[in-house]
Amino acid sequence: MSAQTKDVLEKYPSYQATIGIEVHVQLKTKSKIFCGCSNNFGDEPNSNICQVCAGYPGTLPVLNKKVVDFAIMAGLAADCTITPKTDFARKHYMYPDLPKNYQVTQDDNPICQNGHITIELEDGSEKQIRILRMHMEEDAGKNIHTTLGTSLVDLNRAGTPLLEIVSQPDIATAQEARAYLMRLRSIVQYLGISDADMEKGSFRADVNVSVKKKEATQLGTRVEVKNINSFKYIGQAIDYEIERHITMLETGETMRMETRLWDSKNNKTFFMRSKEETADYRYFTEPDLPLIVIDDAWIENLRKQLPELPHHKLARFQKEYGLSGYETAILVDTQERADFFEAAAKAGAPAKPIANWMLRNLLSFLNESKLSLTESPVTPHHLAALVNEIEQGTINNKIAQDVFAEMAATGKMPAIIIEEKDLKQVGSSDELEAIVKKIVEDNPDSVAKLKAGQDRVLGFFVGQVMKATQGKANPVVINELLKKYLG
Ligand code: ZN
Ligand code: MN
Repeated sequence: MSAQTKDVLEKYPSYQATIGIEVHVQLKTKSKIFCGCSNNFGDEPNSNICQVCAGYPGTLPVLNKKVVDFAIMAGLAADCTITPKTDFARKHYMYPDLPKNYQVTQDDNPICQNGHITIELEDGSEKQIRILRMHMEEDAGKNIHTTLGTSLVDLNRAGTPLLEIVSQPDIATAQEARAYLMRLRSIVQYLGISDADMEKGSFRADVNVSVKKKEATQLGTRVEVKNINSFKYIGQAIDYEIERHITMLETGETMRMETRLWDSKNNKTFFMRSKEETADYRYFTEPDLPLIVIDDAWIENLRKQLPELPHHKLARFQKEYGLSGYETAILVDTQERADFFEAAAKAGAPAKPIANWMLRNLLSFLNESKLSLTESPVTPHHLAALVNEIEQGTINNKIAQDVFAEMAATGKMPAIIIEEKDLKQVGSSDELEAIVKKIVEDNPDSVAKLKAGQDRVLGFFVGQVMKATQGKANPVVINELLKKYLG
């Protein structure tokens, strides 16, 4: 995660990409958007349906107020203007998972408009991605195609509330796209309005990519890649598209507006459908739902409930704990991580090494063992204690790696592990001095080489001392003693 990610555009300095992203966030309300059916994921097919969400003619939708609350909260978190009078529209198309033959969505009057989200990039810089709009809509059901060649329809998802978030085309690279999506996911998770789990489909991104020569005044032809279900694949799909566009531009091929899908087995996008004619959805105002009037009191009441958001938390962590740049962005990615970090720092250990141990050891350990931070055998208390053992010179950084591994495996406190495994640094300088002195005396050839200017030989002496102490010597003391005896 901390490795510098190369963007494909670095290979093609005369080109630039323009990327816009549409995200569908499934809102975590108890009931659906226009009826009282349960909005639970993974239930028995067609068990959470009624006449309204199954699209029976003559039934009337009733708007779930919680959906409006959640949409306003998301809008406020992205500094959007909340539209004071907003309404729903019908978008017509035919598909088996849409029994009404129209989706209830928003058209000209989306609930949130003109905001922005700040992202942090790996070089430590910040960028603002503008938000064009956020609108509320209902999800469709799900078609299931069986191996028997039959197709089934599950309407549990029909009428699930969605918030569609549309960015301006301010994104220039795959790295920025990932940073934007991760920040957006963090925000809705912090707000508690969505699980935003890509694998479960509660956070779905469609990416629009176009590429042009830097000096060209017109944008290139736009291609949409739909329904990519991981951050990694989104980055790969964008890079793949950018390279495909550049190859076509270089060879003079004609680009077409089209929708493509990502093939994660072969790491490429493939053609899904042409987009040359925009579908005529015959939008018109939904006559069965009233205008929604949102007054200041409603907005201010929700604003008061907003948690500290990732971008603000990040600024505070940098200021309060002296942390820097991109790594802090990883710490604030989830509320759990941020809380874990703060709990460890408040347990009385220096913040910077805690952040480092979290980022370099703890998160990869949890990832490998498929554990969440709340299930971690290493608690903030453990991590603070480990950092303090190093700070106090009881163990060195290398031994601390072993202590961490043991701590993760057993949940024992570092002091117990150090005691049981006899890992205390060979601390007293007298003891260490005797060892250094003997090694210097035993290796006159190496001493001669060092004196002749071969500085690398110093590493040999450090290695010998570490070997003699089973890695338990304090490197700072070793260096001091070696200086003394090697002059
Ligand atoms: Zn229903
Ligand atoms: Mn939509």
